Amino acid sequence: MTLLNEINKRRTFAIISHPDAGKTTLTEKLLLFGQVIRSAGTVKGKKSGKYAASDWMEIEKKRGISVTSSVMSFPYNEFHINILDTPGHEDFSEDTYRTLTAVDSVVMIIDSVKGVEPQTIKLFKVCRMRGIPIFTFINKLDREGKEPLALLAEIEEVLGIESYPMNWPVGMGKRFLGLHDRYTNTFVKYNGNEEEEIIPLDQLNGTDISTHQTYLDTLNEIELLEEAGNSFDVNRVHKGELTPVFFGSALANFGVQTFFDSFLQFAVQPQPRKTNEGFVPPENEEFSGYIFKIQANMNPAHRDRIAFLRICSGTFQRGMTVNVSRTNKSIKLTQSQSFMAGDRETVDQAYPGDIIGIYDPNIYQIGDTLLEGKDAYYYNELPQFPPELFRKVRVKNVMKSKQFKKGIEQLVQEGAIQLFRQDSTNDIILGAVGQLQFEVLEYRLGAEYNVEIEFVSLGDRIPRWIQSEKFEKRVFDSRSLLVKDRNGQYAVLFENDFTYRYFRENNKDIELVDLLEAN
Ligand code: GDP
Repeated sequence: MTLLNEINKRRTFAIISHPDAGKTTLTEKLLLFGQVIRSAGTVKGKKSGKYAASDWMEIEKKRGISVTSSVMSFPYNEFHINILDTPGHEDFSEDTYRTLTAVDSVVMIIDSVKGVEPQTIKLFKVCRMRGIPIFTFINKLDREGKEPLALLAEIEEVLGIESYPMNWPVGMGKRFLGLHDRYTNTFVKYNGNEEEEIIPLDQLNGTDISTHQTYLDTLNEIELLEEAGNSFDVNRVHKGELTPVFFGSALANFGVQTFFDSFLQFAVQPQPRKTNEGFVPPENEEFSGYIFKIQANMNPAHRDRIAFLRICSGTFQRGMTVNVSRTNKSIKLTQSQSFMAGDRETVDQAYPGDIIGIYDPNIYQIGDTLLEGKDAYYYNELPQFPPELFRKVRVKNVMKSKQFKKGIEQLVQEGAIQLFRQDSTNDIILGAVGQLQFEVLEYRLGAEYNVEIEFVSLGDRIPRWIQSEKFEKRVFDSRSLLVKDRNGQYAVLFENDFTYRYFRENNKDIELVDLLEAN
């Protein structure tokens, strides 16, 4: 019974957005609601020595080479919240994508001035493929942005997901009056940085809002939504087919609390997860989980690492003995940490939906499943994410080829970088989601394997995996480079969008996909 209670309380999610859309600002407000922090650190106010709590990893980064995403856990009302940070900017990497495999729902922030931006599209695609619920927060309503109807159209057209506005902005920027809340039938009045004021719609008559021209103009839009818009269907939300949309301003803390409360109500608790032997429900008594990230120790003198484990079923007890599916070795988990908003604390018990850090004496790999009990199934959560940058790599001193090979293999296994081979020459080509990955690789090959390497850039490439069984190899060239991935699957690295489209036009029989689901 308690296990079920604990599961129902859990809300594990990530916030996805393009840099500068307001992720840090929104996260901070959520932490304030959870009373994790007392005052909002001026966002990125590093001059004043204050950090946004979700940026704590920046500090770590300066000390090490590890690029991490943080986990923030806290209680809020009847819920236990786990927010997983998805690193953006120059930290954008496979870790960012992988984090999305460890959550049950996602909040997507869109800047009302800029609309749907590239990084949002990339992350959205992964969420879509996994069919997880996506909630949209359209931010910066205190500024003059795009028309709300145009923003909805953009979401539907660019992202291909249907939307249901939970509230509707009345004006924006200087004319921003507040939100018409379709769900609670209230008007939420915007008072700048002062606290918002909630007026039931049937008491709006006679207030200065009801006669305001901006309000009267907006009533038409609201009518249009009611008549021609999508209807709300919680099942479609849960399948990731319909996204509830909320408007607001993270900076002014306007519309954030209503958004969060509705989100928690409609977001899902930890769900059954797919294994090679079918779905395992979280309430399964036997503990199971999988590792979605490994973080090297900050101290280079110690080679040990921390593995981030998403608990999928049962109860975690510190000191318990589990089995690693891949190696069939058993291990006692004595050192485990939880992440209470960046503070790491020893955790004795944890439940499905929780993320814990376990000490890794170099025995785990990303994707490993840990199990209590005798069944030897494994979670199949990690798809292959599309790298964007490609480089050929060679060892400078051929005498060191052996260490080079060993180092590359090891680092590829850790998952920060993907290995390909050019089909015609067998040259090693590495693909990464972010530039930093190459620098980390070069550094670590030097520091840990004493190998110096040379890169030849292939620049930005658009990778597509070939799904067709048979194809002619002569249709490929240096602009549409034929490679094999680590599993021997053929892929093409296109020089740019033009070559890609030209190729498709002329080779309609070759089926290409941009994401490979785990098999
Ligand atoms: P992140 O890169 O997505 O984490 O974005 P931040 O939260 O750091 O925000 C980027 C910039 O946008 C900062 O200068 C914020 O103060 C600003 N910002 C965030 N939310 C709002 C908002 O609701 N209104 C306005 N006007 N600015 C905002």
